[in-house]
Amino acid sequence: MLLEVKGVVIRALNLSESDRLITILTESHGTVTAYANNSRSLKSRYMAAAQLFCYGSYVLYKKGDRFWVREVELLESFFGLRDSVRRMALAAYFCEVLSDVTTADADPEVLRLALNSLYAVSRELTSLSKIKAAFELRLAALIGFMPSIDCCAECGRASGTLYLDIMDGVAVCAECREYVASERREGELLLTGEENRRPILILSETVCRTMRYVISAPLERLLAFRIDESEESTFELACEQYLLHHVEKGYDTLNFYKDVNK
Ligand SMILES: [Zn+2]
Repeated sequence: MLLEVKGVVIRALNLSESDRLITILTESHGTVTAYANNSRSLKSRYMAAAQLFCYGSYVLYKKGDRFWVREVELLESFFGLRDSVRRMALAAYFCEVLSDVTTADADPEVLRLALNSLYAVSRELTSLSKIKAAFELRLAALIGFMPSIDCCAECGRASGTLYLDIMDGVAVCAECREYVASERREGELLLTGEENRRPILILSETVCRTMRYVISAPLERLLAFRIDESEESTFELACEQYLLHHVEKGYDTLNFYKDVNK
């Protein structure tokens, strides 16, 4: 059986001198893992497109429950990623997260986010830290962890600082937080605050507004936001923490990206 898919390679594992196992994030079939034979040989017609970060059109041959790459047409290699360790490290982090959170269920929006983000990193269209934050938060929202930060969930107030409970994705204002915390202190249930160590993000109005933009903007306008320099690092930390808490792990590639940015 032959299957034709368009997608980007988000994982490439060398099995031997000439064989490679690649995971492709596709438009139509979610992630597909396929063997690429002779992919490392100089003569290989797969070589250019069986590498990490490559976007292409792949003809796969299915035998049993395994796929083999039969033909490839390279559409975009994001060559700019290879010019800088920082860019490469960030792209590798994006791919590691993507291979962790995506499944065989197709979500064209996730692929578009991946391609747009890799493109933005390869050209450094804006600061890498901004691209990273936007990718993290938008991805979290796309894979089912959309935070509710339009207003305080208790009183509906939309201005001022909001306290976002990362795990339930619900935000409350300072007053309601005090109230809820004191009410519950009397009982047995402590559902908010540090009392039971639930991770809370404290979001200023500016950070909150920027996060709302990143969650809801059309993907092609995802990076078209400005944030005060003084709030930038808080915003970036919030996006990273939000995603990492939901995937419940850290990533080696993220540590590497941070190391090369020190
Ligand atoms: Zn409130």
